[in-house]
Amino acid sequence: MSKMQAPRGCPDVFPKDVEKRLYIINTARQICGRYGFQEHETPIFEHSVVFEKNLGEDSDIVSKEMYSFVDKGGERFTLRPEATASVARLFISHKLLREIPYKVFYQGAMFRHERPQMGRQRQFTQIGVENLGYKDPKVDAETIELGWRLLKELGLSKDSEVLINCLGSDQDRDLFKKDLVKYLSKYSNELSEDSQKRLLTNPLRILDSKSDEDKNILKSAPKLSDFINKESLKEFEKIKSLLKSMDVPFKVDPQLVRGLDYYTDTVFEIVNSKLGAQSTVLAGGRYDNLIEGMGGPKCPSIGWASGLERLSLLVDYTAPTHLKIGIVDMDHTNDEYLMLTNQILRSKFETYWSATGNFSKQMKKCETQGCKYVVIFGPDEISKNKVQIKNLNSGEQVEVLLENLNNYNF
Ligand code: ATP
Ligand code: MG
Repeated sequence: MSKMQAPRGCPDVFPKDVEKRLYIINTARQICGRYGFQEHETPIFEHSVVFEKNLGEDSDIVSKEMYSFVDKGGERFTLRPEATASVARLFISHKLLREIPYKVFYQGAMFRHERPQMGRQRQFTQIGVENLGYKDPKVDAETIELGWRLLKELGLSKDSEVLINCLGSDQDRDLFKKDLVKYLSKYSNELSEDSQKRLLTNPLRILDSKSDEDKNILKSAPKLSDFINKESLKEFEKIKSLLKSMDVPFKVDPQLVRGLDYYTDTVFEIVNSKLGAQSTVLAGGRYDNLIEGMGGPKCPSIGWASGLERLSLLVDYTAPTHLKIGIVDMDHTNDEYLMLTNQILRSKFETYWSATGNFSKQMKKCETQGCKYVVIFGPDEISKNKVQIKNLNSGEQVEVLLENLNNYNF
């Protein structure tokens, strides 16, 4: 393939899409701000260990999707595949325990070596929040409600649904895993190829397999909900009741397990039926041991991330139009006058001018460029320090002094 193409799965983004993406990011920024999340930036790459150890060696991300490299100093780095571990690293590096609840909003590029398809790229953008410091059902409910509100304010609630589940503690899951593996091993030859592999590496992921055979086998498998400790169950009930009180429509999905090792107790996703195969627009969960596991203090936390490209596929947005003014230098005789006119107008407006073409060609171009007004001058106007302003809708034309141009009511 030609090297003059962007790397596979890394699309170029053109102005219309950029405007839509900025609208989505700004909407999220604003809403998350109302919930007390403040925007942070972390580096695009981190020491590889930040992700390797904490997301789980057998997770899809660590086992096959990371962009890792050794730099010229011989150190191993990884382009961030997600930002939760980066934010946890930030929390530890800057000793932020005194400031809990510490609430982070972020947006930025993430990198995963996946098979590109609709809604799945190798460079993509996530918008996300992390609420660090407390284990409390109110925090879980608030975090999920925030995700729902984002989708609602973007006009996507109609086809979207919140799915939630409780994974229990690490110990609960270990016991369940043992039972699940024992059960599934009886069917190991009938499982899909992927699930056969996962039986050895990451058996919980088999629960969200899309294969019909797997689903059939899973029908009589042990249930994670039977292994969950009383305290977690009680908290899960409370979260559900809080979500109800806030009118967040949700469904408990016992198969929802999420792909990363660091999740504990609450996990959730928001799916949208208009997206086809890649239907998850927002996903997250609680991670009560991550920060401690990375060498930091005990700091139970919860967060979510949403894929900007998937949101962008769904959001209907037309950028507001703004006034654009054309400049026509009739005879191309005074470049200084042209540049000065541009400079004056640009303190308020977008301008358009063209370096070539006679009067009518220039006028045509201004029209096709969407200019509502054209500022025109030739030797006559220049000698009087004036310009003509033509309204292209009404055809009306007035003459003003150049120095008064910006006082004109365009
Ligand atoms: P999926 O099951 O779709 O692979 P995931 O579990 O890997 O999702 P997370 O790591 O939880 O996803 O990321 C949160 C969100 O980021 C996803 O719900 C999705 O909207 C978005 N996302 C994840 N990977 C990609 C990607 N490769 N391209 C575009 N968006 C992505
Ligand atoms: Mg994935």
